[in-house]
Amino acid sequence: MDSTKREQYLQAMGIDAWRLRDRGAVPDKENPGSIYAKPSLDRALDKAIAEPAPAILESLPSRETAANTETSPKNEEVGELDWPALESKVKSCTDCVLCENRQQAVFGVGDQTADLLVVGEGPGAEEDKQGLPFVGPAGQLLDKMLAAINFSRQPRGEQQGAYIANIVKCRPPRNRDPQPEEAAACRGYLERQIALLQPKLILAVGRVAAQNLLHSDAPLGRLRGTEHRHATSNTPVMVTYHPAYLLRSPGEK
Ligand code: URA
Ligand code: SF4
Repeated sequence: MDSTKREQYLQAMGIDAWRLRDRGAVPDKENPGSIYAKPSLDRALDKAIAEPAPAILESLPSRETAANTETSPKNEEVGELDWPALESKVKSCTDCVLCENRQQAVFGVGDQTADLLVVGEGPGAEEDKQGLPFVGPAGQLLDKMLAAINFSRQPRGEQQGAYIANIVKCRPPRNRDPQPEEAAACRGYLERQIALLQPKLILAVGRVAAQNLLHSDAPLGRLRGTEHRHATSNTPVMVTYHPAYLLRSPGEK
């Protein structure tokens, strides 16, 4: 991608692009005339930005991995539900202790025909209040990140749709990490959302989302930048930083 276009994308995401003035400057291979310091964007996101949206989805490798046939009682209970029935089941769910402190469960939002599913960890205070995922400050950055690659939870014009959901649907007290038993209790809902949506790509944002989605305890640094598959659907999974982390560490954008 040429540097002008790159700057436009970065600007759309609210990220200050920067250049090195002298030594250490990196020549942009695709644009040999320019001396351009590559911003340390997540490599996967960078690649996604470099290609038009449909090409990202089509260019995904289709390496087969063994499908994990693991099922839970929850999967059987919700395995037949359509979107409205699944949503009302989640809204009244009391299957783990997180139901005790929630104002409301946060089911998910977006385009139910989307090729892209974004998975976060769980609702925060604002999400708990509004009943929608990613509506606080991290959500605003997520929306900018999606817009920069021409995706939106409410697609208009040229934009492609995205659906947004979380590992756990109810807010953990004081925003602590969800416990393994809470994630396990909630898992069937996300599994059913994936089955209904049949996305071409799942983007896991942050360590908690990535580890739970991939049944892994590897650190985020190891999960990022490599290809994964969602066990039950074999959907490609990309892992990147959580936007809340990017707000705290803008250098990683
Ligand atoms: N962080 C998440 O992981 N999910 C949300 O819905 C909001 C913030
Ligand atoms: Fe049910 Fe999930 Fe909420 Fe727990 S977090 S009460 S399993 S919807």
